[in-house]
Formats: sequence, structure tokens, C-alpha cells
Amino acid sequence: MIYKRSSALFAEAQKYIPGGVNSPVRAFKAVGGDPIFVKEAKGAYLYDEDGNRLIDYIASWGPLILGHAYEPVINAVIEKAKKGTSFGMPTEIETELAKLAVSMVPNIDKIRFVNSGTEACMSAIRLARGYTGKDKIIKFAGCYHGHSDSFLIQAGSGAVTFGSPNSPGVTQGTAKDTLLAKYNDLQSVRELVRANDGEIAAIIIEPVAGNMGCIIPKDEFINGLRQICTEEGILLIFDEVMTGFRLGKGGAQEALGVDADILCFGKVIGGGLPVGAFAARADIMSHLAPEGPVYQAGTLSGNPLAMAAGLAMLTELNGTPEVFESLDKKTAYLHEGFDTVLKEKGLPYQINRFGSMISVHFTEDPVVDFETSAKGNNDTFKKYFHGMLEQGIYLPPSAFESYFLNDAISYSDLDVTIDALKKLDL
Ligand SMILES: *Cc1c(COP(=O)(O)O)cnc(C)c1O
Repeated sequence: MIYKRSSALFAEAQKYIPGGVNSPVRAFKAVGGDPIFVKEAKGAYLYDEDGNRLIDYIASWGPLILGHAYEPVINAVIEKAKKGTSFGMPTEIETELAKLAVSMVPNIDKIRFVNSGTEACMSAIRLARGYTGKDKIIKFAGCYHGHSDSFLIQAGSGAVTFGSPNSPGVTQGTAKDTLLAKYNDLQSVRELVRANDGEIAAIIIEPVAGNMGCIIPKDEFINGLRQICTEEGILLIFDEVMTGFRLGKGGAQEALGVDADILCFGKVIGGGLPVGAFAARADIMSHLAPEGPVYQAGTLSGNPLAMAAGLAMLTELNGTPEVFESLDKKTAYLHEGFDTVLKEKGLPYQINRFGSMISVHFTEDPVVDFETSAKGNNDTFKKYFHGMLEQGIYLPPSAFESYFLNDAISYSDLDVTIDALKKLDL
């Protein structure tokens, strides 16, 4: 395939936008080469600026679970736009979306809308701190909760007991309140809780991780977290920005059978427009301004375009829950197809999958946390990524990202994808 125009557009973008992109992973740093500029998309397909058609496995990193330019969503946005795009005053549609979301997720009473997953997670920990009167939080190495200061902390040696900032600009003062544990390792959590007795407001986790590839929580781990939180008076926050309204109506909570205290949403809940949200039972949410003292606000929060897209999306998912099963089956089909092909190739690999989230890692050992994910062979991954791209398959341009299937992908698209893998010399 030819990507001449994309490369020219990228060169121009780099003159005016840092790195040529407005979100780093788009820049292909992990795989090399120039990113592809999209012109338009419909259903399962992206059409780029050079006229190539690509089967899309990222769905805008999750939101477009029913495919691109899904008509009920697009129509809802168009109709709303004609009536004004933002008022800074309350509108009925905010309550409609809130009511629907609360009805789909069993253990929440109230929800607050924001503009991104980052804002949702940032506000959720502020609320947890305000509610518990404690400062520290525990997060897991390799989990992403947006780019606010408290979360840009990663594992280094000794980091399990002492957080250190891993982005310049995050102060030591902020970093020291973020404690790092290991995913799927309950002991690492117990040690932190013991060493910081009575100081921890919340444990935040991606209940099924998608930002170090797709990683599935062990039963005893996720249930153990719930138990520790209940015993210690710590709030359990599930960051369901990826998993919410993707792994089922009730998200990962429902799929795993574990209840969190605060939920963060994003991606699917906005139907492709900028929406995030956080939610909890009423006694926690009542601490939020203007009902309570924990401040949080937003000029464009709950704006009618975003709410219309979210409402149309959740209405579809609520009315046709078979979609989740359909996605699960399609992703299982891809899983099996890839498994058969990679086995024949005889190189080390792991495939992780939960529902419609899946990732391939070129490594011998099971991928259960950040460390084991980081062992993946990136040279093989690059060959795999570019080899698939050459054949019109758009995979996440990093081994640390989950693929997100959308229901517009057909079985023949999946066959084309599996055949493309067959042709690769890895
Ligand atoms: C995408 C993501 C975020 C951040 O959401 P933005 O809308 O990009 O700010 C937070 N948490 C998880 C789990 C995510 O996948």
C-alpha cells in the first residue's frame, strides 16, 4: 500500500503540533514509520488520505463498539447540533443519559459527567480522598488512568514501596501519595496497606487491564482486593473507561462478579464524542459539589452533543444486549484463528483475551502483569504490525495496547485478517 499523502500530512503536522499528534501513541513511536492520516470511516473500515481501506481493530481506542459513523449516533448528534451546542445551563438529556447509565450498572445511584476518562479518574480519587479523609492511593504498575499527575507514576526498582514520578513535571510531593502495587499480586497490595496503615483512601485498578496489552485479573486477586478494601475502609475504584459498556451492560463488575465503590467511565459512554463519567452510591456521590464540599466542574460537561451521542449509543446497547455476545464470539473466532496460525509458525507467543478485548504478545511466559508484558519481543511485534498494515489491517501501533473489536467487523473481515497473519514471515 502507498502512504505518501499520510507522510506528507505528518511532516506538515509536525511543524505546528508537538510530534505531529494530539495524543502520543498515534505517532507510531513504538513501531516506527509514519502514522496514517484518516479521511473518513464507516462500519469496520477506515479510509485513509491515500485512498487505502483498512479493517480497524482499535475503534478509536474503544468507543466505537458498533462501528464507525453508526447511524443512530450520527443522526442524534446532527439533530442536537441544530438546536445549539452548549448552554452552561442544565438540559433534560443529561438526566436521560444518567438515568439510563444508572439502570444498566447495578450498584450505582448517581453519576457525574465530565469530558474525558482522565477527568473521570482524577475526580474519582479526589472524591475518594474527600470521602475518607485520607491522602494516599494505590495503583498498579502498567495500569493507565489518564494523564493527571497522580497517575503518571510507574514501577522502577523499589517503586513498590515508594512512588517516583516518571514524567517530568510531576512533583515528588504528588508522587509520594501514589503507591505502586503489582497487578495480579495480592501480596504486594497487602504489604502497602500494612506499611501505610490508615492512610489509604482508595485502590484504583483497570478491572481487566488494557494498557499493557489485555490482562485478565485472577479471581483470587480481584476478589481479594474487594475484601481488603472492605476490611480496611478503603474505597475500591474500578477504572472502567475501557471495559464499561464493552464487557457487558454492567461492564467488568458484572463480568467478574465483583462490585467496586466508585466507577470511572469514558470511551463507549460517549459514543465517540468526548465524554467521561464517574459514579457511585448516593452517600459517596453526595460529597460532590454542589451537594457536598468536594469540588469538580466543567464548562462543557454534559453538553448536548456529547450527551446525544452517549444516549444513542447506550440506548442501542441496552436494547440489543446480544451485541456483547456477538462481539465475544467474533473475538473468540479471531483468537482461535490467530492461535492456529501462530502455532504453525513456531515462534513464542501469548494471546490474552477477555470479551472483545484481545492482544498478542511475542513471549514464552504467560502475560499477567506489566513485567511479563514488557518481555514481549518488540522487533517481532514491529514486523507483525507493519506486515498486517501492508495488507490493510489496522492494529494498535504498540504491544502495550489492547485491540478493541467493533460489531461492524464481519466474519469475512476476520478471515481476511487471519489470512493476512498467515502470509507474514515473523
Ligand atoms: C483511555 C483511558 C483513560 C483516559 O481516558 P481519556 O478519555 O483518554 O482521558 C483512563 N483509563 C483507562 C482505563 C483508559 O483506557
